[in-house]
Amino acid sequence: MIPALMPTYNRADLAFERGEGAWLWTADGRRFLDFGAGIATASVGHGNPHLVQAIAEQAARVMHTSNLYRIPQAERLAARLVETSFADSVFFCNSGAEANEGMIKAVRKYHAENGHPERFVTVCFEGAFHGRTLATLAATGNEKYLAGFGPPVEGFRHVPFGNMNALRDAIDGTVAAVMLEPIQGEGGVRPASLDYLRQVRAACDEFGVLLALDEVQTGMGRSGKLWAHQWAGIEPDVMSSAKGIGGGFPLGAILAKEKVAQYLKPGTHGSTYGGNPLACAAGNAVLDILLAPGFLDGVDRVARHLWRGLQGLAQRHPTVIEGIQGAGLLLGIKLRPEVSNGEAQNAAVAEGLLTVAAGMNVLRLAPPLIITEAEAEEAVALLDRAMRRITPSRAKDAAK
Ligand SMILES: *Cc1c(COP(=O)(O)O)cnc(C)c1O
Repeated sequence: MIPALMPTYNRADLAFERGEGAWLWTADGRRFLDFGAGIATASVGHGNPHLVQAIAEQAARVMHTSNLYRIPQAERLAARLVETSFADSVFFCNSGAEANEGMIKAVRKYHAENGHPERFVTVCFEGAFHGRTLATLAATGNEKYLAGFGPPVEGFRHVPFGNMNALRDAIDGTVAAVMLEPIQGEGGVRPASLDYLRQVRAACDEFGVLLALDEVQTGMGRSGKLWAHQWAGIEPDVMSSAKGIGGGFPLGAILAKEKVAQYLKPGTHGSTYGGNPLACAAGNAVLDILLAPGFLDGVDRVARHLWRGLQGLAQRHPTVIEGIQGAGLLLGIKLRPEVSNGEAQNAAVAEGLLTVAAGMNVLRLAPPLIITEAEAEEAVALLDRAMRRITPSRAKDAAK
């Protein structure tokens, strides 16, 4: 018989009762170091006192009023995001897919309002992940996810990630925007080089198309800067955010330059829950933590420490690990073809470490941004033990 909870996920048989910082406990008292953070979402750690207090106080006062009225918490959060980014204006929603869906609408609207309704195609990349709604699935372009859901939404085109000639060839008079993740998350923790990001920006300018960045996973401090594209010194025209922005409370956002945002007038887009007082209280509390003096420098420092630890790990386990990739606290352990990331993930769980699998046989690490250097070292030590669990038999296989 089908479970009451629809079986859309392959769930591990673990249920957590309590969390504190980077740690989670099951009901039977087992403790795990959480280097998945609910897929890069519990950005300020579990049970963060500042976030908990902000949510509790706002919930007691007023949770939801709708966008029929002014929402001071949303006005404040938007103003702070504008102040700390390229953007002039922000739209709030509830998830990454919803933010991307709105972003896709925004780039189409921009060209339509500028007299070019024929420019409605978004150029996306192989290995991308943009969500599970019909349009974001088409943007994702993964055949496996699209199968069985009818004709894909029109207006998406895919080119190889990192190939500038292919991108330039794909841009014609029907293209509205180029949409990419500065680091492909689900696709295997694959970073675009900073130079590639600059070249993509330059090509967008040359052809008069918009640059739309999906920073749902890479944004809100995960890279060691508030937004990953800041490492390249470029600015998008429009950008999506979600995952870490609410620290675990559902919240998404579209950040846009005025030239794009100006066309999203009353009636063009909306969301009942979007930016409600409770969600924005959570968003403001997360931002308080991320913008505290020295916090992002600390993320960068601990990330470099973790990177060095993982390089050592890779050197100690050459029969299991092919290499380390990613940036900031979004890192991937690329496994040799003889070892599956599922197997490595299970071995890590057996040692008390939670990770997330990603595409291209990568084991993804996306810990809360508040981890200490000691916790980074502990994760490497647990991975060392996990890798030893798989090394012996696999080394034999590899030697065959
Ligand atoms: C997770 C993710 C999404 C989808 O976010 P949801 O909140 O699951 O809808 C979109 N883009 C990227 C880059 C993501 O990592």
